[in-house]
This record gives sequence, structure tokens and C-alpha cells, in this order.
Amino acid sequence: PARWRRRFMRPHTQAQAHLDQQPIRVMQWNILAQALGEGKDGFVRCPPEALNWAERKYLILEEILTYQPDILCLQEVDHYYDTFQPVLASLGYQGSFCPKPWSPCLDVVNNNGPDGCALFFRRDRFEMLSTSHLRLSAMMLKTNQVAVVSTLRCRETGRRFCVAVTHLKARSGWESLRSAQGRSLLQSLGNITMETDPRDAVARGGEADRRRVGNGLVVQEEGVADEAGVPLIVCGDFNAEPWEDVYKRFASSPLGLDSAYKRLSADGRTEPPYTSWKIRRSSGESCHTLDYIWYSHRRFQVDAVLELPGEEQIGPDRLPSYHYPSDHLSLVCDFSFSEPPQTHR
Ligand code: NDP
Ligand code: CA
Repeated sequence: PARWRRRFMRPHTQAQAHLDQQPIRVMQWNILAQALGEGKDGFVRCPPEALNWAERKYLILEEILTYQPDILCLQEVDHYYDTFQPVLASLGYQGSFCPKPWSPCLDVVNNNGPDGCALFFRRDRFEMLSTSHLRLSAMMLKTNQVAVVSTLRCRETGRRFCVAVTHLKARSGWESLRSAQGRSLLQSLGNITMETDPRDAVARGGEADRRRVGNGLVVQEEGVADEAGVPLIVCGDFNAEPWEDVYKRFASSPLGLDSAYKRLSADGRTEPPYTSWKIRRSSGESCHTLDYIWYSHRRFQVDAVLELPGEEQIGPDRLPSYHYPSDHLSLVCDFSFSEPPQTHR
């Protein structure tokens, strides 16, 4: 059967977007590392041919090309240098890749190198101001999980914002490690977004912020950071359901973040029922919400969210399949800035 077509839903509670600005389309996707999919995961209900890289890579690229994101955040990338970097560069993207220090891919025979996080953006829309590769810590110790954080400048409007991609520790029993990794990431993001351009804080903040900036004391405080630093978008496979600590940490952080996919629900407050659905030989069927697109909710508004396929579209053998090349679904949404561009920029 033909592949089911996903449609964009437009949350109607939002104020009218500024029509002078083109929205920023963001895609978040754990694309399933080739070495893990063939060598470790044990997807017993997925036909082996559907896992063949020679074909699967075209399904991944087709999905990216279908939605044409301005910003693309990927996890489990173990074909950056031989596939995604060259192909996406020829399509107008600039990318950055951070491998995991001890990628489990390296345990698989005939692996293609470590998997990691990759961040791509359209060169014609954005200029990269800085990029950091972070190794997330937990209790002062470095962990095996990483993040890529880039500060971008909109070529058309001059606006700056920050995008991050991460992939937190998998599996149950590791909830407190994920929470600590989330804390480490939020701390780094707070530092990066505040130090990028203090002039933004002067432009946006009130008298109190002005004084702080004037004294060179740009500090993060409750209710201040989210208004002051550069706006932020954080994409990730958090490997955590919404009730986990790490999710609550992001939802309540002083950076003022909200999760875009809640907009898809009828009440606008509920995460989707799943973003990953698979059947493994070892552990059987698992259906979980693990992937998120967080955004500075006072600075961006969500114009559109790409709906997720239903159980019927996914089919009884779940993911991956001939139609869906990863065990995770892609998340795509359109953001626009809540306020018109400042004239000084
Ligand atoms: P994680 O536990 O975060 O999982 C790694 C990958 O395995 C993820 O991409 C995850 O996918 C996938 N995964 C999750 N559950 C299962 C499952 N039940 N079956 C198969 N795959 C699954 O790994 P770490 O980053 O902590 O790395 C662990 C590995 O790293 C070890 O196996 C070891 O090989 C290596 N390592 C080596 C070290 C060394 O000193 N040599 C040190 C540390 C690690 P998803 O996110 O989609 O769920
Ligand atoms: Ca995986």
C-alpha cells in the first residue's frame, strides 16, 4: 500500500503570526543507527530487507526532503561522513556532528564508526555564529551522552537563536542518570544563551536587566533568563516519558521552555501517546513517548505541528518497516518569533 501522508496541524489558540516572517521548520528524528538496527536491536517483526542500508538511507532522505526542514536534528547518526554530510551539503545544508565517545555501534562487526548527534541548518536562511559539542555530565562525571549546540543568525532578519540536539541515556533503571544529564544540558544551555549576545538582554529586558548588563553581571535568575538570553530550541531523544524527572526538569526550567508536540493534543497540554513503537526479540513490544522539541515559549510561537501516524498506519509489526525507516517517528514543527524584529538588529 502507498505510504500514508502526514498533515500539518495548526494550533488555533495562537495569536496571528507575523506575516512578514517565514516560519522556521524544525525536524527532530532518531533515525536508528545502522549498526544498532542490524546488529543489536533485534527487531524481530521487521523484514531484514527493510533494514538494508542501501535502501533505508533513501527512505530517511526522502522523509527529510518531503518536509524540507530549515533545521534538522538527528540522533543515532552512524553515516554522517559518507552519507548525510555530503548529500545534505549538496542540498544546501550545513552540518555539525558529535559522535558518542563510546558508541555501542563500535561493538557491532562491520560497523561504520560511532553513532552520534547531528545538527543541520539551511545555509541560505541562517549563518552559524558558534557551535559547541558537549559531553553531558552527571554527578561531576562525564557520561557517554553528547549534545550539539549551535547559535544561528537569521540572514533575513538578523535575529539570533540557539538550537540544540541531544540523545540521553536509554533504558529503564537509568532515570536518575537522565535527570542529571538534563540538568547538565540545561546548565550549559543557560550559559551559552546568556553569553552569546548580552545586547539582546539590554534590548529585551527591563530596568533591572539593563543594570545587570551594565555591571557585567548577566546572571540567570528565576523568571529572568527566559526573557533575557537568545531564544532556544532543544530537540532530543530524551529516552524518557513525560512523567520522568528529566522531562519535569525541562518543563520547569528557568529557561522558559515548553514542548511543541503538546499542541497536537485536543487540550494542548498532553504529549502524544508515542513517538517510538517497536517489537524486540529480548524485551517484546514497547510503545513510548521519548522524543521532544522544546522551545522558548515566550519568544517563539508554534505555527504548525506535523501529525503522527496512528496505530493502523504503523501496522501490526510496528517500527521500523518498509514505510518507516526508524523505530522512532520524526517530529516536525514550524516556529515563528512572537515579536517582530527589533529595528536595532
Ligand atoms: P544506551 O543505554 O544509551 O543505549 C545505546 C543505544 O542502544 C541507544 O541508541 C538505544 O536506542 C539502544 N537501545 C536501548 N535499549 C535497547 C535494547 N533493549 N536493545 C538494544 N538496543 C537498545 O548506551 P550507552 O551510551 O550507555 O552505551 C552503552 C554501550 O556503550 C555499551 O554497550 C558499550 O558497548 C559501550 N560502552 C563502552 C565503554 C568502554 O569503556 N569501552 C564505556 C561505556 C560504554 P534508543 O535511544 O532508541 O532507545
Ligand atoms: Ca535506538
